[in-house]
Amino acid sequence: MEREAMEYDVVVVGGGPSGLAAAIRLKQLAAENAREVTVCVLEKGSEVGAHIMSGAIIDPRALNELIPDWQAKDAPIHTPVTEDRFMLFTADKAYRIPNWSLPRLMSNHGMYIVSLGNVCRWLGQQAEALGVEIYPGFPAAEVLYDERGAVRGVATGDMGVARDGSHKGEYQPGMELHAKYTLFAEGCRGSLSQELMARFNLRDGVDPQKYGIGIKELWEVAPGKHQKGLVLHSQGWPLDSRTGGGSFLYHLDDNLVSVGFVIHLNYENPHLSPYDEFQRFKTHPEIRGTFEGGKRLAYGARAINEGGLQSVPKLAFPGGALIGCSAGFVNLPRIKGSHNAMKTGMLGAEAAFAALQANRAHDELASYPEAFRGSWVYEDLYKVRNVKPGLGWGMWAGMIHGGIHMWLNDLGLGALVPWTLRHDRPDNASLKPAAGMPKIDYPKYDGVITFDKLSSVFLSNTNHEENQPVHLQLRDAAVPVNVNLKLYDGPEQRYCPAGVYEFVAAEEGGGRRLQINAQNCVHCKTCDIKDPGQNIHWVPPEGGGGPNYPGM
Ligand SMILES: Cc1cc2nc3c(=O)[nH]c(=O)nc-3n(C[C@H](O)[C@H](O)[C@H](O)COP(=O)(O)OP(=O)(O)OC[C@H]3O[C@@H](n4cnc5c(N)ncnc54)[C@H](O)[C@@H]3O)c2cc1C
Ligand code: SF4
Repeated sequence: MEREAMEYDVVVVGGGPSGLAAAIRLKQLAAENAREVTVCVLEKGSEVGAHIMSGAIIDPRALNELIPDWQAKDAPIHTPVTEDRFMLFTADKAYRIPNWSLPRLMSNHGMYIVSLGNVCRWLGQQAEALGVEIYPGFPAAEVLYDERGAVRGVATGDMGVARDGSHKGEYQPGMELHAKYTLFAEGCRGSLSQELMARFNLRDGVDPQKYGIGIKELWEVAPGKHQKGLVLHSQGWPLDSRTGGGSFLYHLDDNLVSVGFVIHLNYENPHLSPYDEFQRFKTHPEIRGTFEGGKRLAYGARAINEGGLQSVPKLAFPGGALIGCSAGFVNLPRIKGSHNAMKTGMLGAEAAFAALQANRAHDELASYPEAFRGSWVYEDLYKVRNVKPGLGWGMWAGMIHGGIHMWLNDLGLGALVPWTLRHDRPDNASLKPAAGMPKIDYPKYDGVITFDKLSSVFLSNTNHEENQPVHLQLRDAAVPVNVNLKLYDGPEQRYCPAGVYEFVAAEEGGGRRLQINAQNCVHCKTCDIKDPGQNIHWVPPEGGGGPNYPGM
């Protein structure tokens, strides 16, 4: 069947903060210059916001520039941070680090606690009001190239394909969306963005991207335990000093508390389970009380970029550009990326608009990387560039080194630390053989504060059409058993926060085989990142599949 095609000036892949900011900026510029510009946003979630999983404390800097009257336009941003606590945990004690000793750039004064999913829903409405066409439930599954090799758009995935590849009665071929410029805003570890980085050698000369996995729950707590605007971050227990990561706990309004844990994906011990570390964290005497008598409302997980400036790839290529976390602009010590995602979306849009004004198409938007280098996003990342590499020396050395580095930058003495430390290897190369690493005995779930994976996935409202090709593709079907199970005791069983991977008894020949419960996948992308041999290839499933996060 022939695919239908639609023509746009700009197609944006992904309806997160970066994609929506880009679409809005394009339409604003079009209006200011009295020019018609057609813009379409494709979003793989069933609605805008359905796949957004974040903390989130937002720095409103980019939003102030994009929509200065966001308060008058009733943006769902109502909870300013009122108290900022940074703690160090041992198994039974918590020590507060005085705020005066923390670098100023770590302060959350002037920031807001939000549901980033709800902010995106609102941004989607602002975009549509300006004439942007948004198509939720439509993943971009394929990049289209012209005869010269430039990107000329994307195609959405086919609908109605059975697990064995045959066409079901309701089969619908994907649509082609042709564009003069295509902006990729897929977020962390975007599948098409990975393809583009390889095809256009965008990672040549930059460090490997580094990642963390963030796991989060949304709770309604007892009113007496709620303190609107309170922010708490911790480091230390339950992680050992060789494993990087930490917790976040944010009190929104209406007795809602967002609690989560990020574990850096360069961890070494294959017995580690990020999910269980998070469950264990909630039982700490400093934390447990907040949730007793409360109700868990939602659960989710998502990878986060941690490489910072050294890992930012080349941003533009013929016919398109990477914006937001597709490229990776998260400021790790601040655990904030949404402001940089939005601002780079705006910069990408400005470059695309200037090119349209000059009647160009399908060439390289060279002014976008240039604008990035001159922007406050670059400055934001430059000041903290050595924090993440220093964490490789262990928690204490890393914290002290990072603290000194950030303090000097705060004081305008950044010139005293002019060097840039490098990231030496990708996160899939960090696991050590299971036989030489300590086993971790995780406590049983109590069903009150801690829960099993399946009841958690239930709260993510994840749904996939079951009779479709598995979207977690194995490059070599023998590797999970012959390498991963044998050498690393099957780490995919533990790092997947949704119980997708299980080693079960093989039907034939004894032994075990990998069972992939793809319908549970919450699209966090951790398997695509952490599989030791890069044997798992995450591709978008049929449109609308995946989590349906309410207010995450
Ligand atoms: C646990 C955690 C906590 C965080 N806390 C904070 C915080 O407190 N403050 C902060 O500022 N930042 C925080 N971040 C980072 C922040 O969430 C990201 O920087 C931000 O969401 C990036 O925006 P984005 O638009 O680039 O990507 P995303 O927000 O990931 O959005 C990408 C969108 O594109 C869609 N998509 C992806 N691929 C396709 C495709 N092929 N076709 C169609 N649609 C597609 C996705 O479904 C999604 O809706 C946190 C992240 C995590 C994981
Ligand atoms: S299968 Fe992969 S992408 Fe899906 S939830 Fe598990 S680790 Fe995340």
